[in-house]
Amino acid sequence: MSHKVALVGFPFDGNSSFLKGAAQAPAAIRNALFSDSTNLWTESGVDLGEGGVLIDAGDIDVAESDFPRAVEEAVALLHEKGLRTIALGGDHSITYPIVRGIGRKHPGLTILHFDAHADLYHDFQGNPYSHASPFARIMEQKLAARLVQVGVRTLNAHQQEQAERFGVGIIAMKDWDEGLRLELAGPLYVSVDMDVLDPAYAPGVSHQEPGGFSTRQLIKMIQALRAEIVGADIVEFNPSRDPVGITAMACAKILKELAARMLDQG
Ligand code: MN
Ligand code: MN
Repeated sequence: MSHKVALVGFPFDGNSSFLKGAAQAPAAIRNALFSDSTNLWTESGVDLGEGGVLIDAGDIDVAESDFPRAVEEAVALLHEKGLRTIALGGDHSITYPIVRGIGRKHPGLTILHFDAHADLYHDFQGNPYSHASPFARIMEQKLAARLVQVGVRTLNAHQQEQAERFGVGIIAMKDWDEGLRLELAGPLYVSVDMDVLDPAYAPGVSHQEPGGFSTRQLIKMIQALRAEIVGADIVEFNPSRDPVGITAMACAKILKELAARMLDQG
């Protein structure tokens, strides 16, 4: 376990197009993660509560006027220290500056993106930094060697064109099946938009899109990853839509299994 994993929160929903609330997510995810209702062991037998394994780098408050630069700099600094990061959103707009920051140290990233949406809009409602656009920015700036999206179920003509233009690999929800094996090379970045899950499992998102994955199906895909994971994010959780805390616990669970894969790789 030579690589330590740092949690870093971005309580930022300034680029959300429909509902605010994702800014409350980092605190809610930490509450779920450290809740006495469960423990910090992963399913593979890693104790995230062991001293120094999982470092909490705290929250970074980002003013809208400092976006995206402040996010990029904060993440780059953690990677300069030799840490790997799991970022807690916030809305999905943070992924573009995070990938920029990590790319300084790890060029040629492969990105695995779980989402009900492709987030490939050139701009959304005039905002090029919209949470509906991070992967357009990433691909036009050639920040990823490869982008694979899994669980998409809202593709429109514009985003289909964008996907073709950028060579994005989309495994749409309708084409996914249980036996699918993802062959991905490292260094790998994993971006988890919580709306990839079916709203039955994760109602606490701003854009509920029925017909998604179960929590177990997503966990199994994460556990099957073998490429070196250098960074990840969990975004779009909106606690104001999560009355019994089920989505917060799903975030914490996914966080633990992502951390386990990052730590197991040594
Ligand atoms: Mn989404
Ligand atoms: Mn998204």
